[in-house]
Amino acid sequence: MEPGLRLGVDLGGTKIEAAVVRLDGGAVEVLARRRVPTEQHRGYEHIVAAVVRIIQDTARQAHLPALPPVGVGMPGSVTQGAGSSGPLLVKNSNTQCLNGRPFRDDLQRALGHPVAFANDANCFALAEARCGAGRGCRVVFGVILGTGVGGGIVLEGRIWEGAQGIAGEWGHVVLDPSGPPCYCGRRGCVERYLSGPAIEQAYAARTGVHRPLHEIAARADDPAARATLATTTETFGRALATVINILDPEIVVLGGGVSNLPQLYDEGVAAVRRWVFNDRLQTAIVRHQLGDSAGVFGAALLPEPALRPPALS
Ligand SMILES: [Zn+2]
Repeated sequence: MEPGLRLGVDLGGTKIEAAVVRLDGGAVEVLARRRVPTEQHRGYEHIVAAVVRIIQDTARQAHLPALPPVGVGMPGSVTQGAGSSGPLLVKNSNTQCLNGRPFRDDLQRALGHPVAFANDANCFALAEARCGAGRGCRVVFGVILGTGVGGGIVLEGRIWEGAQGIAGEWGHVVLDPSGPPCYCGRRGCVERYLSGPAIEQAYAARTGVHRPLHEIAARADDPAARATLATTTETFGRALATVINILDPEIVVLGGGVSNLPQLYDEGVAAVRRWVFNDRLQTAIVRHQLGDSAGVFGAALLPEPALRPPALS
């Protein structure tokens, strides 16, 4: 097997995408790519079988004689962190039939091949750090601002998972304990202010009218839209400044639908500058470069070991 070949799978709530890629430094060449619906209503066993099938079909489409190293990215958490034993169980996935199930073990057994796993935000951060907007940076914070908010930390080209596997989980930092309730059981999480649905709800609360985010962003003459976005950019600045104060990355890469808001890159960056503990802001805060491919590319990059704290035996 040629050393640079990898197979990545992006397992989403509505679609499963797989690609065979050839990695050469920061360049990614796609040799084969497939996409199928997740059909999560058909249950857990169906999803395991569908992921096995798309892996085998994509490898065959690329004319590979055997499976290359395989990585799978998905929403939710799939790690237990260092020092734990027993199967890795899925938590917090929006593909709910996976929650509480030993998905990685079951997939490896059905496939007869090892599989590396990470959540979708870590895959996004890894792909952008290695092949996208963060190329050449040693410390990258990648954020998905979409239907939820997730984050991932990449240090020198490798995911930093953290001692308990939650590194980069910025979306559930609590900004206001009396804020709107979050599915995680707390209130006022970053996700409840900066996800697409949260911004749309904030606009609806002001106006009684539900509009999609891109419409709100385009309504320059609508005081309620301007006020909603002013709150969004201010919250973005305050919340991101906290990350920068602690991690001090060279670059923050934004992905997900909300990252298309132009206001984040002027008023949002200005708000970060106001809140960060420095008299200037050198951190680059930029839009993603890989688009929808980040998930599947990041998954393909996973089979190299993630950074973990050394075990103290
Ligand atoms: Zn939360």
